[in-house]
Amino acid sequence: MSNEKIKVLIPQLPSADEILPYLRRIDEKRTYSNYGPLTTEFRDRLGKLTGAAGVTFTSNGTTAIEVALRIRAIPDRRYCLMPSYTFIASAHAVCNTGLTPYLLDVSERTLTLTPEIAKAALRDLGEQPAAVLVVSAFGAPPDQVAWRAFEDETGIPVVFDAAAAASSIRQVGKQPMCVSLHATKALGIGEGGAILCADTGLTERATAMTGFGFLGAERVSAIRAGNYRISEYAGAVGLAVLDALPARLVELQRLTDGYRTRIGAHKRSRLQEGIGETWLTMTPNVIVPEDAVQATIARLDEEQVEWRRWWGFGCHKHPAFADVPRGDLSTTESVSPRVIGLPFHNLLSDTDLDRVARCLP
Ligand SMILES: *Cc1c(COP(=O)(O)O)cnc(C)c1O
Repeated sequence: MSNEKIKVLIPQLPSADEILPYLRRIDEKRTYSNYGPLTTEFRDRLGKLTGAAGVTFTSNGTTAIEVALRIRAIPDRRYCLMPSYTFIASAHAVCNTGLTPYLLDVSERTLTLTPEIAKAALRDLGEQPAAVLVVSAFGAPPDQVAWRAFEDETGIPVVFDAAAAASSIRQVGKQPMCVSLHATKALGIGEGGAILCADTGLTERATAMTGFGFLGAERVSAIRAGNYRISEYAGAVGLAVLDALPARLVELQRLTDGYRTRIGAHKRSRLQEGIGETWLTMTPNVIVPEDAVQATIARLDEEQVEWRRWWGFGCHKHPAFADVPRGDLSTTESVSPRVIGLPFHNLLSDTDLDRVARCLP
């Protein structure tokens, strides 16, 4: 029994019974999409939760980034600065908007691109980029103050890929915050995404872009767009997710605290900064010392503890992006092998957490 495999992630969405009252409302209204009543209520509740004056739903987190970049990127410029160390969706999104990713390094401490790294790249690049895509590291809320200052100083628009941070964001400025509502994220509805923004003009435009560019006059396409809407069924799941969110966050906190007490000062490994204090995620990582990586992985495998490098070794290691331009990536190269995703789901017992922690240096 004790050596039953511990899985790395077991997603959990609301049960059919929890969703049913909302489905009944769809039956009554016979509105199935096009910003209907359930999606609208979900939008308002998500806005209140995250402190965002404007919320635009999109079909997923990747298309949220695409729509936000299409609105914000400066025309007739080629590059979008972004970290190589991110989930590969970020790079796909940049390319899908017609921009070329320019891959940059991350800070070893935060695992994120910093304004300092971006400014150094601006000096090397020789031309002005169209935008910067700043990625939240596994759900840690991005440093909005620092990036606001960067944009004020350089004039380069910032878009946040805060895909895993939806449940941890408490305020949003004018730089759009793109989140994912995928089943593996803390605020998962299955598939979905959202653009959170304090600039209601941007929200209006973004929302129009999710529905054929209808802006103002009915059925008149005012801007180039697409169809990235979510259906009322997604809205129904979203409302049930928000109903259950307080209890879910208590559970995520319990598990996170479990890891925090077990990976305290007595271990050489560390968790990401602020986790369990200012933010929670479904994909917590332990960062192990370089000399202990191989032994740690061997122990986890031997103990039947499933683990994952959620972001691999950076976008530049994927064949699809092998040829994209890049700056110095030495920290990405050295830190990415050390970032190990730990098991995290509500079936983990204290004994399971002990078993995981025993494998960590
Ligand atoms: C999950 C994730 C995405 C993609 O979100 P989808 O909803 O799956 O499209 C993008 N960027 C990061 C950093 C992510 O973690």
